[in-house]
Amino acid sequence: MKVVSTIAEFKEARRRIAGSVGFVPTMGYLHEGHLFLARQAKAENDVSVVSIFVNPTQFGPKEDFARYPRDPERDLALLEKERTDLVLMPPVEGMYPPGISTWVDVEGVTKRLEGAARPGHFRGVATVVAKLFNIVEPTRAYFGQKDAQQVVVIQKMVTDLNMNLEVMVVPTQREPDGLAMSSRNVYLNPEERQAAVVLWKSMNLAQGLWQKGERDAEKIRNEMVALIKKEPLAHIDYVSIADPLTLDELSQIKGSALISMAVYVGKTRLIDNMTLGN
Ligand code: AMP
Repeated sequence: MKVVSTIAEFKEARRRIAGSVGFVPTMGYLHEGHLFLARQAKAENDVSVVSIFVNPTQFGPKEDFARYPRDPERDLALLEKERTDLVLMPPVEGMYPPGISTWVDVEGVTKRLEGAARPGHFRGVATVVAKLFNIVEPTRAYFGQKDAQQVVVIQKMVTDLNMNLEVMVVPTQREPDGLAMSSRNVYLNPEERQAAVVLWKSMNLAQGLWQKGERDAEKIRNEMVALIKKEPLAHIDYVSIADPLTLDELSQIKGSALISMAVYVGKTRLIDNMTLGN
């Protein structure tokens, strides 16, 4: 495994790769969800590349950029075990040298859900991912369904800007009790960790109602909200039932629907989602 921190050094290594490249962008503090992506990238390509970069431009001024968990040594040991070929770990000033003035703004789908709750978030995400795609030149790039709206935004960017790669989506990896794996789960104290399973429970409730034939999105949303509100440590940011492609809120579920949510458990903001009907 080769670890590089400068973009010039990465590009030099990239020039020597002839075969297909599978790329996994991450912010580090790796867990089984990230490793699942890395494994997939390794299995489906000649060479696997993982980037570790906590991207400041996707955090709001009151968000957790400074205290976002970081453990590069542990991350590298985990990636070594996955036989990752190349790791890019650039410093912030490597990705954003002084004077940078170009941004990627995906309109429309970024206005809803996470985009509405976190203004500027997807501009930061799209910009860093576009930069990483230009640096890494992947054949396939791997993203987790855990960040469902991010997948929609990246797919739109790749299509709209005619980027020459395939976007691969990998299912959300969960703890045994259903909590989606996330680097931010480390913020939870033991009581909050137990309470956090309410996100998963509320999505299962929704799925159960849907399976019994309920198609009134408002009714399903209300039941989910009621269940979450029974958990004293949980505070809802949003609960959404939306069209999986446009992310428009639904009143009736006709085809498939994306159930997604952001819920504070204590001070930690957790997101999760589930698709109803393929
Ligand atoms: P992050 O480090 O949070 O930026 O995540 C890097 C990539 O890993 C993104 O594509 C995420 O969607 C994906 N990811 C994060 N958590 C999970 C999970 N629990 N299951 C699957 N993919 C995940």
